[in-house]
Amino acid sequence: MIRTALIAGLLLAACSSPATQTAPVSPSPSIQEGTYPAQYHDATRASAALETLSSDAFEGRKTGEPGNLKAQDWIIGRLETFGVAPLQNGDYRAAFETPDFSGRQIEGTNILAVIDGRRGQDAPVIVMSAHYDHLGTGEDGIYNGTDDNASGVVALLETVAWFQENPPENDLVFAFFDAEEQGLAGSAEFVRDLPDAIAGRLAFNLNLDMVSRADKGEIFAVGTHHYPDLIPLVDGVAERAPLKLSRGHDSPEWGDQDWSTMSDHAPFLRAGVPFIYLGVEDHADYHKVSDTFDKVDPETFARSVDTVLMVAEAVDEYVAAEAN
Ligand SMILES: [Zn+2]
Repeated sequence: MIRTALIAGLLLAACSSPATQTAPVSPSPSIQEGTYPAQYHDATRASAALETLSSDAFEGRKTGEPGNLKAQDWIIGRLETFGVAPLQNGDYRAAFETPDFSGRQIEGTNILAVIDGRRGQDAPVIVMSAHYDHLGTGEDGIYNGTDDNASGVVALLETVAWFQENPPENDLVFAFFDAEEQGLAGSAEFVRDLPDAIAGRLAFNLNLDMVSRADKGEIFAVGTHHYPDLIPLVDGVAERAPLKLSRGHDSPEWGDQDWSTMSDHAPFLRAGVPFIYLGVEDHADYHKVSDTFDKVDPETFARSVDTVLMVAEAVDEYVAAEAN
């Protein structure tokens, strides 16, 4: 997640009455105390993966730096373990060059895998995405980026595992984007120059960015303001999800907390591709060296990943129904 207007927004919030922050109400499930038994994924595996990917060994995963390359190898190792195929040319890596915020040319690498759907060759394509890059290392230390966005990467890997066992209707591309923190560069490049294998078939983006904290017990589905047809999909999942799933953060009334263009779903939105972005509200550790694994409540993360998977299943059904 990149929030370039964050500081200005905080100042604004401090000297004005709170904006209307009430999203259309979705039914909130009762969250009970105790250990939540994950229904759709391996919570032990996911927690271990989150700890590993956000450990100091990955040095904050900054685009172009050794820790980022190490993260690429780690993600590809997981994809190979799950037995999921590369999208193109027998190589998971799709390299690109792009200017960053400051106009400096950077080299990035998206990691792309595919699971073929049951509908066959001309099936719609759903891109499920999460960025793996983060801010690297600074004077304060290592920006581990557990929530931003090791959490989305791990949730996406669990989504891969789920659909390997439960074949989807549509073709699913799993995109681990690079250089999100450099201005959504990886996703912008992907949408600008779509891989031949999916050209003309791009139907949907489900983007995951910051899905582990839910300090208020809530995760947001962003996008229904732009695509109101998706409201029943989100509300349908919200009725049975193990974590409160709310709509919002996607219209001008949210002010600087309108997240419509703040993560990798933005290039899809600009290209007219329907999307849902799942993410939690800002927390005190956002873009700080304190965004670390010990801040994550394992039960909340398990509930969140299950909720992500329920949305992913619902998106697959929605896109299949739309194509009929
Ligand atoms: Zn970020």
